[in-house]
Amino acid sequence: TREIRLDRRPVGRPQQDCFSLAEVTLAPPGPGEVEIRPILLSVDPYMRGRMDDRPSYVPPFALGAPIEGFGIAAVEAAGPDAGLAPGDLVTGMLRWRELDVLPARRLRRLERHGEPLEAHLGPLGMTGLTAYVGLTDVGGLRPGETVLVTGAAGAVGSVAGQIAKLAGCRVVGVAGGAQKVARLRELGFDQAVDYRAGDLPRALRQAAPDGVDLFFDNVGGDQLEAALSLMNVGGRVVLCGAIAQYNDEAPRPGPRNLALAIGRRLTLRGFIVGDYEARRPAFEAAMRRWLVEGRVQADSTIVEGFERLPEAFLGLFEGTNLGKMLVRVGPE
Ligand code: NDP
Repeated sequence: TREIRLDRRPVGRPQQDCFSLAEVTLAPPGPGEVEIRPILLSVDPYMRGRMDDRPSYVPPFALGAPIEGFGIAAVEAAGPDAGLAPGDLVTGMLRWRELDVLPARRLRRLERHGEPLEAHLGPLGMTGLTAYVGLTDVGGLRPGETVLVTGAAGAVGSVAGQIAKLAGCRVVGVAGGAQKVARLRELGFDQAVDYRAGDLPRALRQAAPDGVDLFFDNVGGDQLEAALSLMNVGGRVVLCGAIAQYNDEAPRPGPRNLALAIGRRLTLRGFIVGDYEARRPAFEAAMRRWLVEGRVQADSTIVEGFERLPEAFLGLFEGTNLGKMLVRVGPE
């Protein structure tokens, strides 16, 4: 079967030549193992961090080894005591392979209630949980507040904005390009700002004339700085991601206005979704209901073809995705 490997560690923005396609031979599944056929594989911004060789909350990818990430697969064959059967749908950390053999205990059987498969890697998956716990547990979301979301047309941001609306907040989203901004309005955002249109600080002041109480930041850099200036006294900043900085070759200065956090009594809090597994049942119950009732739209961009995984990943840094970026590797 084929696999996609990390061949060299990127400096700055990753390129296609960081990856290579290789042929490997699999042994049949042994005791407790299953052979799986990935259907959908997820590409995520955090993978950029794993491409560097430095300690972090997830270990770096090994060079010459397949990339791994979240995915959904069908069980093709099961060894003794695997507890899974051919035809089962499973999810978990999968290697970028067209077929694979893995210990069954590393996979979770997917429970489907009529949702499209891709929802399990988007609003019902890791990115949905991130939006949910980031707003509620980390951000202390309260009805009536003004919430600002950056990266608002992406997987985490689009769900965060929709959850904040459902909680009775006024929601301002920031995204790149007219098409994304139009989509944010369709999703119910009260205001949507295109950061590519220039003068972001001014556009944000106009979009949030009464300031911001809760800021859910997916982007960092200039957008973080512009948003800090708008924070109301006692405001909270949820540091979810900083994609504008992931490809930086040297640390950048700033936010230059951080000292205003003192007078405005701001709380800036980072978090990692993996620490909130205990919240999954409550989150899943709420999100399933919202999806069924059509109150959360599950936007996704699905790139077709296993060999296009690197292209899809690189697209995250160009904003080629609306909602969750996924790659379809094979039929359901
Ligand atoms: P997205 O679906 O939002 O995809 C990435 C988006 O980022 C792109 O579509 C693009 O949108 C935007 N972007 C890329 N480069 C830049 C840039 N230089 N400046 C501004 N915007 C940029 O990804 P996710 O929803 O999966 O992740 C969003 C953020 O949340 C990331 O920072 C990620 O690391 C973080 N995250 C954090 C987690 C945690 O546990 N703390 C868990 C999951 C995600 P546009 O066209 O609008 O520029």
